[in-house]
Amino acid sequence: MEIRITKNDAPKQKPDENNLGFGNYFTDHMFVMDYDLEKGWHDPRIEPYGPLSLDPSAMVFHYGQETFEGLKAYRNDQGNIQLFRVMDNLNRLNQSNERMCIPTLDVEAMFQGIKELILLDGDWVPSQPGTSLYVRPFVIATDPFLGVRPASTYKFLVILSPVGAYYKGGLNPTRIYVEEYYVRAVAGGTGFAKTGGNYAASLKAQVEANEKGYNQVLWLDGKEHKYIEEVGTSNAFFKIDGKVYTAPLEGSILSGITRNSTITLLKDWGLEVVEEKMTIQQLAEHHKAGRLEEAFATGTAAVISPIGVLGWQGEDLVINDNQIGEVSQKLYDTMTAIQYGKVEDEFGWVI
Ligand code: PMP
Repeated sequence: MEIRITKNDAPKQKPDENNLGFGNYFTDHMFVMDYDLEKGWHDPRIEPYGPLSLDPSAMVFHYGQETFEGLKAYRNDQGNIQLFRVMDNLNRLNQSNERMCIPTLDVEAMFQGIKELILLDGDWVPSQPGTSLYVRPFVIATDPFLGVRPASTYKFLVILSPVGAYYKGGLNPTRIYVEEYYVRAVAGGTGFAKTGGNYAASLKAQVEANEKGYNQVLWLDGKEHKYIEEVGTSNAFFKIDGKVYTAPLEGSILSGITRNSTITLLKDWGLEVVEEKMTIQQLAEHHKAGRLEEAFATGTAAVISPIGVLGWQGEDLVINDNQIGEVSQKLYDTMTAIQYGKVEDEFGWVI
């Protein structure tokens, strides 16, 4: 695949690596590809990062036909740049595309675009501990049309954002509100897809949880509002009596790459992992009986996020004395060591 490159002749000043935060800064270039019915996906190119010109009637603005992904590039100790499980993210983008009636993309073509873009903007990959370059591929429907149907023209873009360490002073246990009214997804809906609407629909619960003094919500299933699904934008795990439980992939939760890596590592360490439905009532009973040893969330942003408190029906269930659990810490240390190339990549996760 031939990628046309137009260099940015006005590169920006790079931000302070000690104060990046998340998603605040963008690099000098972006990758773009177009789709139409005649040519399919075509014209792969790298352009200076900048505003898009779209018709105000472009369908994405009105009916939200769009998908996205999120992964990270890390600077390793040799000064090289490595990506973590990028092919899994690109395959997941195609699963989201399929659900949203967006034409799928060639995974190799997407990978090549991402690689070329990162090589061109390589100086933007930070090297301070815990920092990385967040990679955001996304697809938008661009037909200038207000009828409700799948679009026939699209744009695929990749933008890059240097991001800071999620936790400045080590892992931090979070306070999570068990949301019993609002739901994120239903079976048959779009929960397993990374599409903007899921996130727009989740904001209200997040805002209300924040107002109540919690960091995030624990989502319950959309039908009976009792089965545990996810925590905010991450997958949820519970260590009960030595076994680790997480919700099964049945359409309403996202198939997290970190979830999959977590399950692989836990099994490799000889722990039993159970992918089964569990109600919040059952979890509370385990807690009451002293069997709930650890709870944590998994995702690209924070890797592992220990849950210190679950707010449920007016009560705060404190887990593991609000301390970082042994398994949470070991998962975090192992996963980040692989991501930053500090240990051998025995699972073939790194490119
Ligand atoms: N669930 C949701 C709803 C998410 O948005 C994310 C973030 N992509 C995750 C779980 C975690 O997925 P991953 O480990 O691939 O980042």
